[in-house]
Amino acid sequence: MLTEQDLQELISYQSNYPVLSIFLNADPSVGSADVYKLRLRQMLKDYNQDAPEDTEAVERFVEHEYDWSGRSLAIFSCAKDDFFRIFSLALPMRDRIRLLNRPYVKPLVDLLNNYGNYGVVLVDKQGARLFHFHLGQLQEQKGTMGEAVRHTKLGGGSQTPGRRGGATGQTRYAEEVAARNIKEATRFAASFFKQKNVRRVLIGGTEANVARFINLLPKTWQSLVMGTFPMEMTAGYIQVLDKAIAVAQKAKRKNETRLVNAVITAAAKGREGVIRLDDTLGAVHAGQVQKLVICEGYRAAGYRCQGCGYLTAQALEKCPFCSNPIEIIEDAIEMAVRKVLSDGGEVEVIHESRELEKAGRIGALLRY
Ligand SMILES: [Zn+2]
Repeated sequence: MLTEQDLQELISYQSNYPVLSIFLNADPSVGSADVYKLRLRQMLKDYNQDAPEDTEAVERFVEHEYDWSGRSLAIFSCAKDDFFRIFSLALPMRDRIRLLNRPYVKPLVDLLNNYGNYGVVLVDKQGARLFHFHLGQLQEQKGTMGEAVRHTKLGGGSQTPGRRGGATGQTRYAEEVAARNIKEATRFAASFFKQKNVRRVLIGGTEANVARFINLLPKTWQSLVMGTFPMEMTAGYIQVLDKAIAVAQKAKRKNETRLVNAVITAAAKGREGVIRLDDTLGAVHAGQVQKLVICEGYRAAGYRCQGCGYLTAQALEKCPFCSNPIEIIEDAIEMAVRKVLSDGGEVEVIHESRELEKAGRIGALLRY
């Protein structure tokens, strides 16, 4: 499993040689290992010349060592430096390959930001079940807490339907026990969150129990609650996992919407932002792009100067900068992505956004 330490290692990795970074979707529910191997070979083809040792190392690994159990894999190779890292992930990822002067970690950073380090709690009057949801994997905490509190099954509530509405004293006693149980559950949850480095909290249960739980949770953790949902205490693994993934996806879409809006607003003001292919390519060429934003799957042909590499959507006869001849290129978007990354900018692929589609499917936030 990918950890923060792994990520830190990749981020701080430096070499005098370029690093080949590959992300390969390998979802076993969608295709077979043979299909993915073929796809990988196609991706590697363009790099056989520039990084032969790396493409060979990757092919060798995938052919002989990889077990194809994950839904995607991330590979980082710098064979000249004897550096090879591979991560099998429980979430699908888009296919991508990059040869840059350092590992291309952005997709992993995004994955951790969106799907990493969730604490999931199911709560009722007797106690709580705790889960750690990390990069598509869900683990239930088998601690003393759930047991100990759940054993305190005392009168009242649904436990003794025949006696419901009995003596007020008994009801009050049951309420006291429930309050104590929930208090104990929050205490245990807080220490679990801390131990697991949890950064976001999801809470399931009845509305009343969830509200009580949040109310008793220490303030630092209250501020990290990003979703609540109704769920039975006896919910199965898949039910909890599906809910956690759904909440994470919703948060991701919200972030994407915010980013697209920021680009469009900045472009409308004519400062610090551009939209549409030609303006965006212009900004890319000028090295102004801080964050390139593209609709997923967007491809467009374009024109490139054979001298200075100037990219444009217009069919010019010669380069306005250096007068060299212009050639047609099949995928101007991919060229733009590479240029932005090598200039130290970032690239965000937006999964679904009608606003960005209307704005020409591409845009950017600029540095200045
Ligand atoms: Zn030129």
